[in-house]
Amino acid sequence: MRILVTGGAGYIGSHACQRLLRDGYHIVALDNLHRGHREPMEILKGAHPESFEFVHADLGDQSQVLQVLDEHELDTVMHFGALAYVGESVEDPLWYYQNNIAQAIGLLQACDQSRGGKGIERFIFSSSCATYGDPPDDMIPVPEHCPQNPTSPYGYTKLHMEHILKDYANSRAMKNNPIALTMLRYFNVAGSDRTGMLGEDHEPETHLIPVAINAALGKRESMSIFGTDYPTPDGTNIRDYVHVEDLVSAHVLAMNSTKQGEVEAFNVGIGKGYSVREILDAVKRVSGVDFTIHDAPRRAGDAIALYNDPTKIKAKLGWDAKITDIDEVVKDAFDWIKAHPNGYAS
Ligand code: UDP
Repeated sequence: MRILVTGGAGYIGSHACQRLLRDGYHIVALDNLHRGHREPMEILKGAHPESFEFVHADLGDQSQVLQVLDEHELDTVMHFGALAYVGESVEDPLWYYQNNIAQAIGLLQACDQSRGGKGIERFIFSSSCATYGDPPDDMIPVPEHCPQNPTSPYGYTKLHMEHILKDYANSRAMKNNPIALTMLRYFNVAGSDRTGMLGEDHEPETHLIPVAINAALGKRESMSIFGTDYPTPDGTNIRDYVHVEDLVSAHVLAMNSTKQGEVEAFNVGIGKGYSVREILDAVKRVSGVDFTIHDAPRRAGDAIALYNDPTKIKAKLGWDAKITDIDEVVKDAFDWIKAHPNGYAS
């Protein structure tokens, strides 16, 4: 397989490129570097000069994407490129819909026209547990058949994309030219590559674990817990934190398991929930620093509790999280951020 990785310069996309390159695949990473970084692309090119290319482009630039797909004879797309902040999506929904949906349709049109009009063979989509919104009590842990009712524009962009992709897959099947479509609904992704080459560097950084690590390292004076009055045991939100290397493994399994004509959705999360306070305790343990935490109001768009029921992905893909100790996840993130106090150089 020869794979286009959109958002390849981002946190998850770059880790996916690294794993796929190690597995021997030919990879073209595409990124507009709006939030992605050039340095990980240079690191990967240095390590895999023959099998890796980076293209600086918008994923919605249909003609350029088509050219890249054809020039490199790509047959598979892993689509990571998207804006991914719940709070930001509430503040600027049109930007999220434009970027995550309108741009993605440009990508899909290029995918459809590639290979002389035959189209790509497989598509792996980064969806999200945010598509579930606040699941009913009897659906936590969350199975894939849980009703999808997002609580944020971000969640809606992912849900709408699932529908668009299913419609596209259906049209391909009707033309006797089936595509393999897998939608992976991520829970919260954390940690970093264990060789220390790649890490998590967002600007702005709003994710809980890196924000807390920045507080522990003195890069910020304090941090806030967004909401301490939720109906959970300690009043804070509960999430499922999956290590980025385990998440990437799910992509490799999905890519190799889903057959032409199949449309599959899998949740990717370890199956255990941690409250915000439990995560902050882990960051304090790992860093050895008792940083300052303030209680703050709820953040718009946040669901109360989300953690995965991994039954389906275990049964169908044989996937299981290998790194389930939250201190190990936090330590990988901590080590990279500590070693890269200013993030990537470019
Ligand atoms: N959170 C927090 N303080 C922060 C950042 C996040 O209390 O500075 C909370 C947030 O409200 C949510 C959880 O941590 O309940 C995880 O948020 P994150 O932004 O990491 O991921 P999300 O669940 O939004 O994808």
